[in-house]
Amino acid sequence: MTKHIVHISTGTKTGCDICNGFSIGGENFAASVNHYITDHGYNLLHVGSETHLIDINNADALIIDTVAVLGK
Ligand SMILES: [Zn+2]
Repeated sequence: MTKHIVHISTGTKTGCDICNGFSIGGENFAASVNHYITDHGYNLLHVGSETHLIDINNADALIIDTVAVLGK
């Protein structure tokens, strides 16, 4: 049974939930997924995309991020 879920996005930079010593997300996306799998024993549950509408100079801009969900 999965007891803990982590969510990684190319649009969000954060620290590792477990060890805090690893930069997660952003341009470090693939290394972040590998970090949870190899260093913490997580399983990859889902890879997909998320869209966000942001405002740039009063015009809507669509941002598409790649996301991964891992569980252990
Ligand atoms: Zn870690």
